[in-house]
Amino acid sequence: MSLEEHRGAKNNGPRAPYTKPTDISDPDYFHKVVDCQWACPAHTPVPEYIRMIAQRQYTEAYMVNWESNVFPGILGRTCDRPCEPACRRGRIEEKPVAICRLKRVAADNRGDIEHLMPEIGPKNGKRVACIGGGPASLTVARDLAPLGYHVVVFDRDGAGGGMMRSQIPAFRLPEAVLNEEVDRIIDFGVETRFNHEVTSLKEVLNDDFDAIFVGTGAPRGRDLNIPGREEVADNFHIGIDWLMSVAFGHTSKIGKRVVVLGGGNTAMDCCRTAKRLGGEDVKVIVRSPFDTMKASPWEIEDAQNEDVEILNNHVPQKFLIEDGKLAAVVFEKVSPEIDAEGRRKMVPTGEEPVVVPCDDVLCAIGQENHFPWIERDIGLEFGEWDMPVVDKETFQSTNPKVFFGGDAAFGPENIIWAVAHGHQAAISIDSFCQQKDVRDRPPPEVTLVSQKMGMHEWSYHNDISNDERYLVPHADKNFTLKDIKMEVELGFDEQLAFDEAMRCLNCDVQTVFEDVKCIECDACVDVCPVDCINFIENSPEADLRQNLRVPANDMEQSLYVSDILPTGRSMIKDEDVCLHCGLCAERCPTAAWDMQQFLYKEGQAKNQQVAK
Ligand code: SF4
Ligand code: SF4
Repeated sequence: MSLEEHRGAKNNGPRAPYTKPTDISDPDYFHKVVDCQWACPAHTPVPEYIRMIAQRQYTEAYMVNWESNVFPGILGRTCDRPCEPACRRGRIEEKPVAICRLKRVAADNRGDIEHLMPEIGPKNGKRVACIGGGPASLTVARDLAPLGYHVVVFDRDGAGGGMMRSQIPAFRLPEAVLNEEVDRIIDFGVETRFNHEVTSLKEVLNDDFDAIFVGTGAPRGRDLNIPGREEVADNFHIGIDWLMSVAFGHTSKIGKRVVVLGGGNTAMDCCRTAKRLGGEDVKVIVRSPFDTMKASPWEIEDAQNEDVEILNNHVPQKFLIEDGKLAAVVFEKVSPEIDAEGRRKMVPTGEEPVVVPCDDVLCAIGQENHFPWIERDIGLEFGEWDMPVVDKETFQSTNPKVFFGGDAAFGPENIIWAVAHGHQAAISIDSFCQQKDVRDRPPPEVTLVSQKMGMHEWSYHNDISNDERYLVPHADKNFTLKDIKMEVELGFDEQLAFDEAMRCLNCDVQTVFEDVKCIECDACVDVCPVDCINFIENSPEADLRQNLRVPANDMEQSLYVSDILPTGRSMIKDEDVCLHCGLCAERCPTAAWDMQQFLYKEGQAKNQQVAK
């Protein structure tokens, strides 16, 4: 039978109900297949920059990052890495690609980028106030200043950076890296009012700004009101305040025995900082089980490598005082139990209380928002938990002139979420200032380009490395523990970076199926190493998932469904397990499969300026 005859063969037609053919023109479809980019709040095109690093195109890789996440050098050291648990490599072996530390490689090795910075357009007469000088406000400034906005950043500290400066210790984030990326934005003509704490939003509203962005973070550390708290005030420190005091040089020592309360990343920064300021016996004591600690696993590992002990399932009960001074913290031991509603409760074990002698306590049990400076009669509503009512898409408050982002909008998150919020708020502020509908969002830029260079040749490297994840080398702790400014992580060198980059599966190089070319020879089915291609009868999705050669049980991942083919079957591919190896496209005799690179760039304020 010829191909033409085959195409003309009787199509049995769709049987209802059945699963609709996939619309690959929907930008979200292939975006979701790029697991890391989909999971990144700023939607950084990760595989694009990883390939550039493999080709030693560090400047280009830096710029891909800078466009979307604004702070590649900072985030390459400090990001909470929501992309890595999502990484496809983590589904074929234990460890994901070291996406975050590859970002740092781009920052460490890049060349000059001044000529790649956006041109600063003529002033458009609009003034925008950004309250707080952290990552959310700086992102708003970066997006709006080049478009002609006069942006004024207020911060109570003497320099920009917000929590990146005051809460992240220099041994994780060197000051020079921070300054360079912050100053680059300030150099876009941003007016700074540092050492200026805003104490009244009403005053700022009366100052003739066209829009106001609030990016003040979650600046209040939680206190612990247990017996003895007032008496031990001199040796009890709120973690984020103490870190800030260390960062600005006001605190340079601590007692030999230190208890850190809390199990998040702030607790890890506190204990490691304490080790550098004189703490010899430093314990992190957390009420939850070890495996549910909030800190990132790598932060916990780094603390343990510096001989910090972690005690779990301990609830602080009271402080012991001797000679008017803190002597110890008393803990009740608990263990987790699941109640009738399936909720986990920490239940006392009935064992003797645990007494932990100490000289100082660092309290890192959480952070809260705090808006005493926002008047309640300015049309800005507050809702649950005394948080401002903020639209989740536009970041606009109920006072249309005031926008929120970062931790100030919805509570504590992290730097990369603050950046993502900043981009979206900048879009809204631009629309608001230009009297456009803030609900009109600029669409993403999307391209899909064939990677075919010859019969069996692709312009991407589809022969994937089987290596396990490479570890980032650390400096000798005999030195790093003696110098609070000495960076612990040395970063990948070029060879390690290349080897790590080669672990990436290129999830953005998509398998694109053209059903009119398919002759249903099933050659792709035979060659696929993970059995993710199927030619079967269409049916409702739940059935379809079970009818595949390997059932598709990860409901988060899509099925690629073709139209009904001449024999009445459909091509069904489970995107979950595809390795993007290209073997299906190499084997296909009619080029019904092609490997096409999908590039997705999230819309930003500059894109809607072009559209206007
Ligand atoms: S394998 Fe590469 S492209 Fe795929 S999710 Fe991981 S880092 Fe991203
Ligand atoms: S690219 Fe093709 S052959 Fe390779 S895993 Fe994916 S579907 Fe199978």
